[in-house]
Amino acid sequence: MRWQPAELIAAHFETPSARTLTLRIPGWPGHLPGQHVDVRLTAPDGYHAERSYSLAAPAAADRIELTIQRVPDGEVSGYLVDVFPIGARIEVRGPIGGWFAWNPDSGGAAVLIAGGSGIVPLAAILRARRKARSANSFRLIYALRSPADLYYRDELAPPGTEPTATGGSPVAPTEFVMPGDDVEVFLAFSRGAPSGARPPGRLTAEEIAKHALPPAPDVTCYVCGPTPFVEFAAAALVSAGHDPGSIRTERFGPTGG
Ligand SMILES: Cc1cc2nc3c(=O)[nH]c(=O)nc-3n(C[C@H](O)[C@H](O)[C@H](O)COP(=O)(O)OP(=O)(O)OC[C@H]3O[C@@H](n4cnc5c(N)ncnc54)[C@H](O)[C@@H]3O)c2cc1C
Repeated sequence: MRWQPAELIAAHFETPSARTLTLRIPGWPGHLPGQHVDVRLTAPDGYHAERSYSLAAPAAADRIELTIQRVPDGEVSGYLVDVFPIGARIEVRGPIGGWFAWNPDSGGAAVLIAGGSGIVPLAAILRARRKARSANSFRLIYALRSPADLYYRDELAPPGTEPTATGGSPVAPTEFVMPGDDVEVFLAFSRGAPSGARPPGRLTAEEIAKHALPPAPDVTCYVCGPTPFVEFAAAALVSAGHDPGSIRTERFGPTGG
């Protein structure tokens, strides 16, 4: 797999600390939702830094989307979120990974469980389902700090609510059907939960059992986020009766870690 030049053609902030990049890569071969790419930055002195980033949207000709969460003191994420200007180039290699992917042609029902920026590849899967007009049953369980940390607000904000930039407390349901889709969503805020909704706190195994689809041969579970979150959620799915072979995981730990 070769490195290809990728030009930044558009960008916007999802939250104050997460930025979505649209990159143009001439000759991009296409990808499946759930796959990721490697990104390479090269300093003027020739020093390289490489990191992995999930593809945030289904393939669209020569364009890909990534969403980068700024990690405190992070070498690459800090640059991509705060500095990388429109028109500049990086190098990209991919697509990578076939296991953590949902194929619109053959994928069945799915339970998607995200911790923080782990929503990125799961958003690609949700968007691909919508694009394919798939009627497969989907559930999304999304654990995050506060309403202000919600990515992809147009799609994932509870209907009729505008979470405040400070993580304030609009009255918002944490269980709803995704606008425009028949996907049931459950949001678990660990802090700053909307008033009148679930009290703030970590996602629990009981909530996973309640909000996931029941175990069945055609149900695949996709879990993505920081390593401890992924291990917790996968164990909760097994306790709820899901076959370990039906659980696919992607860990967003430090690259190489
Ligand atoms: C398959 C895969 C897909 C990924 N997809 C995404 C994605 O879609 N969006 C995204 O924002 N990130 C994603 N990541 C994480 C990403 O690759 C980097 O690890 C992250 O951007 C930090 O890189 P950095 O250079 O800024 O930090 P570094 O300079 O490498 O690290 C700075 C400090 O932060 C710690 N650190 C590094 N990475 C993380 C992390 N992920 N979580 C917590 N602490 C960390 C380090 O231990 C170190 O102390 C993915 C990782 C993998 C393996």
